[in-house]
Amino acid sequence: MNASPSKYTSNQKLTITIDGPAGAGKSSAAKLLASGLGYVYLDTGALYRAIAWKMIQEKIDLDNELKIDAFCQALEIHLTIHGDKNEVWVNKEDATPYLRFPEVTAASSVISSMRSVREKLLSVQRQLGEKGGIVAEGRDTGTVVFPNADIKFYLDADLSIRGKRRDKDLLNQGVLTELSETKRDLETRDRQDQSRSLAPLSAGKDTVIIDSTDLTLDEVLEKMMHFISERVACR
Ligand code: C5P
Repeated sequence: MNASPSKYTSNQKLTITIDGPAGAGKSSAAKLLASGLGYVYLDTGALYRAIAWKMIQEKIDLDNELKIDAFCQALEIHLTIHGDKNEVWVNKEDATPYLRFPEVTAASSVISSMRSVREKLLSVQRQLGEKGGIVAEGRDTGTVVFPNADIKFYLDADLSIRGKRRDKDLLNQGVLTELSETKRDLETRDRQDQSRSLAPLSAGKDTVIIDSTDLTLDEVLEKMMHFISERVACR
């Protein structure tokens, strides 16, 4: 990151949220922002993915609300933070290696509309952020999880750019994809995330919206640092 964050934030332990659709660059921006500020990085999507993984493993019927409620109540879920890596443990099993599997990605968007899933994860997320000094990324981190966050960003980009970025990420992980298929998956998840009745993906009123379609990651970070410094100066 070009800007030196410490001169802007002094010793304040801010809570910063970054929400937005899949593939908008939230994770890259959040990780760099957190490491530049000396904050912890929280990937809230990893929690939804871990529950989806466990539900697939246990063959939970997604139409059986009672079964899902009981499953969520009994579930033990922990997220541990090591620098820019988040590990998620479900019933003492490490779910982290499986979180990016395509079937887990697809299921995470479906199960995230369920009340018992969201209720389970709300307290987990709030506990992780209770001391501040955190950059949290997801879909509802500014609107629901940390409504009193100091700075809230909503990062967006055109679908085709998001598809290309997602394909590049997957290629770096050795996975070859079709752009048209990636775009279709992103569209499906966007639609599900935006249309659900509980904590739908949307930019809240007090949110700084950044469209990263024509911006590099450095430019996104510069914009974010600019808003952070302005906000801190106004306090
Ligand atoms: O961010 P990521 O793509 O890993 O999130 C996976 C899924 O988890 C999303 O498609 C969304 O449905 C759900 N999610 C959510 N609320 C969050 C983070 C993720 O509903 N705060």
